[in-house]
Amino acid sequence: MAERKEVVIIGGGPVGLTLGIALGKAGISTAVIERDAPSKLRDAAFDGRTSAIAGVSRRVLDGLGLWQAMAPAAEAIRDFRVAVGASPLFLHYDHREIGDEPFGHIVENLVLRQVLLDSAEKISALTVKAASQVTHLEHTDHGVCAHLATGERIDAGLAIAADGRRSPIREAAGIRCLHWEYAQTAIVCVVRHARPHHGVAVEHFLPAGPFAILPMTKQRSSIVWSERTALAPALMELDPAAFLHELGTRFGDYLGALEVISPRWAYPLSLTLAERYLDDRLVLIGDAAHGIHPIAGQGVNLGFRDVAALAECLVDAHRLGLDLGTGVHLERYQRLRRFDNFLMAGMTDGLNRLFSNDAKPVRIARDVGLAAVNRLGPMKRRLMRHAMGMPRGGWEKGPRLIRGEPL
Ligand SMILES: Cc1cc2nc3c(=O)[nH]c(=O)nc-3n(C[C@H](O)[C@H](O)[C@H](O)COP(=O)(O)OP(=O)(O)OC[C@H]3O[C@@H](n4cnc5c(N)ncnc54)[C@H](O)[C@@H]3O)c2cc1C
Repeated sequence: MAERKEVVIIGGGPVGLTLGIALGKAGISTAVIERDAPSKLRDAAFDGRTSAIAGVSRRVLDGLGLWQAMAPAAEAIRDFRVAVGASPLFLHYDHREIGDEPFGHIVENLVLRQVLLDSAEKISALTVKAASQVTHLEHTDHGVCAHLATGERIDAGLAIAADGRRSPIREAAGIRCLHWEYAQTAIVCVVRHARPHHGVAVEHFLPAGPFAILPMTKQRSSIVWSERTALAPALMELDPAAFLHELGTRFGDYLGALEVISPRWAYPLSLTLAERYLDDRLVLIGDAAHGIHPIAGQGVNLGFRDVAALAECLVDAHRLGLDLGTGVHLERYQRLRRFDNFLMAGMTDGLNRLFSNDAKPVRIARDVGLAAVNRLGPMKRRLMRHAMGMPRGGWEKGPRLIRGEPL
């Protein structure tokens, strides 16, 4: 016998789980199926992976009652400094120029997962099945059936693919993607430093790619170091002292002595954009719909914005007693999100190409551009609001969760 739910979400990463919580809290019976085991998701030691939670995502998490539990472990990004190669010019963004909210917060992925899983457990309309892999979806007379590797089956009116950038569910549905590799690999780790960072995030554009220093609690910083893919394996294999030396030459000495306090991770970087987010009783969300360059730390933030839009569309349809798996509410979600995600993907791709280029004419044009942005207050403020994920026209133009209203 198959279990019956209104919605089945494939993938319990940050985006799938948050959507499950939003739907479950609104009384929509939902199952989230996650391949990884609970021990890997919740009980592991801190592994050095973090997320930059932009202002917009903090609002979504707050609206779902999740932020309060994360806040003590989150470090605010109050200022942002952008430097380019050896150029003496740099941009300084101060959050006070656009209000009193910080640009965002750095949160350990482990904390994010623990808070989401703890909250999910308390929602009666939500079931999380961890250590369960969806092998395939089958269309039935009245909906869709998710087949699990355990042999279990879940019938639902709507399936949501939140299964990450490679999304086997998207592939099986035949949804094509725009895709390219960046020939860059992001090396990720955490350092402790002798001096406090005062909430300042730094993005240093180097010829091989951006080198980001993101402020964490306890006098630590998260490093996202984009390097040429050809060089990354050698860097990953360096002994700790040699790795620290290489890192230090890029980091600089403004925070005093450094110590690497986490494992190193390497992620080959690519761009993947699904050409559509909808199929027969199927919706794509998060990285399954759009995987972008981490240059602006926006990946998961786009996913949280998808959650705010899709949750509102589904909750409204549910209140009207409509079939969740088909109808204009799904078209509305696609219309609300596809252009925005496409724009952010284009912007991050363009920034990466512009700044990872050491040709002299490009360097000169870049310096002129930086100087202009620094002087043009309105343009600078617009960029800052964009980095926070604020919709055009202010927070009140976003979906209810972003406006700070109940779902
Ligand atoms: C180096 C790097 C740094 C980054 N830094 C940031 C940052 O600072 N800020 C930011 O916003 N974003 C950042 N990102 C992007 C961010 O990591 C992703 O956007 C985010 O993880 C997407 O979340 P998701 O839930 O959509 O997908 P994922 O996190 O990929 O989760 C997908 C889940 O689906 C599960 N799954 C897959 N297939 C199945 C199946 N068949 N059955 C069941 N479960 C399945 C997987 O186990 C996984 O848990 C970064 C990315 C990289 C590579």
